Amino acid sequence: MDILIGLVLILDFSAIAACLYFAFESKKEQEVRAFRNGLAGGLIFLFMGTGLFIPIIKIGVVLIFTMGLIFGLALLIPAEPDNKALKGTKGHLAGKPVRFDERDTVFSRFRSLVPGSKLYDTYYSNLHPEKEEQDAKRRTKGFIGKPGSIDNEYQPNVAMMHASFAIPPFLGHYAFNDPDPDVPRAELSPEKASHIVKNFTRHIGADMVGICKVDPDLVYSHRGEIHYGRQEDWGKEIKDLPPYAIVFLTEMSHGHVMSAPHTPTVAESAHLYAKGAYLSTLLAKWFSYMGYKGIAENTRSYNIPLPPLAVDAGLGEIGRQGYLIAPEIGARARIFAVLTDMPLAVDKPISIGVEKFCRACKKCADSCPSKSIPQGEKIIVNGFSKWKLDEDSCYGYWSKVGTDCSICMAICPFSRPNTFLHKIVRLFVARSKVAQMVFPYVDNFLYGKRWKPKKVMAWLNYKKGLNKDEIY
Ligand code: SF4
Ligand code: SF4
Repeated sequence: MDILIGLVLILDFSAIAACLYFAFESKKEQEVRAFRNGLAGGLIFLFMGTGLFIPIIKIGVVLIFTMGLIFGLALLIPAEPDNKALKGTKGHLAGKPVRFDERDTVFSRFRSLVPGSKLYDTYYSNLHPEKEEQDAKRRTKGFIGKPGSIDNEYQPNVAMMHASFAIPPFLGHYAFNDPDPDVPRAELSPEKASHIVKNFTRHIGADMVGICKVDPDLVYSHRGEIHYGRQEDWGKEIKDLPPYAIVFLTEMSHGHVMSAPHTPTVAESAHLYAKGAYLSTLLAKWFSYMGYKGIAENTRSYNIPLPPLAVDAGLGEIGRQGYLIAPEIGARARIFAVLTDMPLAVDKPISIGVEKFCRACKKCADSCPSKSIPQGEKIIVNGFSKWKLDEDSCYGYWSKVGTDCSICMAICPFSRPNTFLHKIVRLFVARSKVAQMVFPYVDNFLYGKRWKPKKVMAWLNYKKGLNKDEIY
């Protein structure tokens, strides 16, 4: 019996230490509820340890620890491989794929179709008359309203956003690069080429890099954005793209994102759009000097939606809120790509347990102020099974707050910092059957389900412009 008590005491001390560590990390992350729960857990284990020396409750404490141990062992039962995730976007095919028309994206409609122009007439008279009334109402408010209105248009942060968004147009003219005629075509094995490309991309500033073949079913059918003044491109069919894609992610600062939907988050998105434009243009140019085509995919210059491309390049899975969820950085990822005809060795899609976790979690859907994220099951869109975001209502909220909101990015449990604690949790979510079933509920209990913006660093501090009722 003494040995048993000794073992339980060791477990108890370990549990107290784990709870205090959890509380400490949660305090750093400004997760108030989790901090309190960590402290409460530590106290409960302290009382339980004391209870081991009180005969009447000793048995109860031993029983509780035995059950805890059984749960711990159950966490080691491996999860079935998620074959759908491991097939990438093809794993989510649910019919005949239909290519998406870029002209139908909210961004293209608002940026390319100027009232009174020929394109405007073509789109609303011939293609989608049903969208005209709703879009006309939105136009009266401006596409994203008054930038930074949620924070009284706080100038330092809004200026960071404008300054960053001013950069990609300088680079946009260099997005399409043919092989430089003055250089010989480099002959490298696909493995060697991929090794160089990935290391170079990380060296210049990307956080994660993957390579895949371009799936023609995912390419936009027609161009909808006016690429840096090229009006004539609107409505052209997109075809004959180079066959390989180098897809890379840049990580959004956790501190900025946690202010969502306030101005620091849009300042950070804009900063990474500028960074991604620079990185992708540089890489596309590199391919040209290697004797191959290089097309930079960034900001307004896309031939293909990037989240599915990132899935095929083995960089993560798509979550309920429609963002890519990457290992280590979760949804705090901005995606960019370069298309090329240089033969490359490709990566395989990965499974990190997102689909199962999202089924039970629903935090993003609960916290979305415009109710744009579905609570229910996936539906079939253009031949693929997916959780379908209501983009119109989402961007409607953006125009109210004057930022890109990002609450659904910030609240996602996968977006937490890549500390030892969260690394362990991610490992279990990716590999353990029981963790996939239970952890979403544990997460909701520990951290809560509703979003509350966290404090930002003093240099980003803003003055609120909208009151709480207007924000949520
Ligand atoms: S918040 Fe939850 S449901 Fe939403 S994407 Fe993240 S894990 Fe999935
Ligand atoms: S960005 Fe905001 S409004 Fe849009 S889906 Fe996410 S939480 Fe909802």
